[in-house]
Amino acid sequence: MPLVIVISGPGGAGKSTVANRLADADERLWLSRSWTTRARRPNEAEDAYHFVDRATFEANIEAGGFLEWVEFLDYLQGTPVPDPPPGADVLLEIDVEGARLVREQDPDAVLIFLDAASEEVLEQRIRDRGDAGPAVAERLDKAAEEASAARRLGAAFVVNRDLDAAVGEIQEIIEAARAAREG
Ligand code: 5GP
Repeated sequence: MPLVIVISGPGGAGKSTVANRLADADERLWLSRSWTTRARRPNEAEDAYHFVDRATFEANIEAGGFLEWVEFLDYLQGTPVPDPPPGADVLLEIDVEGARLVREQDPDAVLIFLDAASEEVLEQRIRDRGDAGPAVAERLDKAAEEASAARRLGAAFVVNRDLDAAVGEIQEIIEAARAAREG
């Protein structure tokens, strides 16, 4: 069974950068690509998500194609059933509700909450990203709710003050989970 590592945290905390760094540095870590029904942001990589319309997403729900999916603000996001190469562990970058759904199916899933250094930093990053649609305030409220929910789930909190340090802390958490699995 692959180990499943879930990174959650507010949009704007730097999760994608951290998740990409982790996957690039560790060939035994396979990064899942989520499906979304929202539009691609102007500066977002084409392969950041599998961008689909709502009907395609809903058909994949019906087909049992998702490990988990949620309605986030006003769009759908979901993790396709993982298909890692043999021996690889699975890395998911999803919201806390998704983390809870994964943990229900896999009690050994490792939950990590990546937080921004401060609310000011978070707000600035959300604005810089030029989010269309949901207001910045809505995303900040969602961030606070997610932090409380992550605490209740017992997620490990990592603060993204410095990218290298945050990546290093998460690598240690992953190595500890691998060591525990191997007993
Ligand atoms: P954004 O639309 O800003 O890229 O993502 C919004 C939130 O949805 C982020 O917290 C992101 O991690 C989360 N997210 C991305 N993909 C998935 C997914 O497949 N499932 C769930 N539950 N959340 C996701």
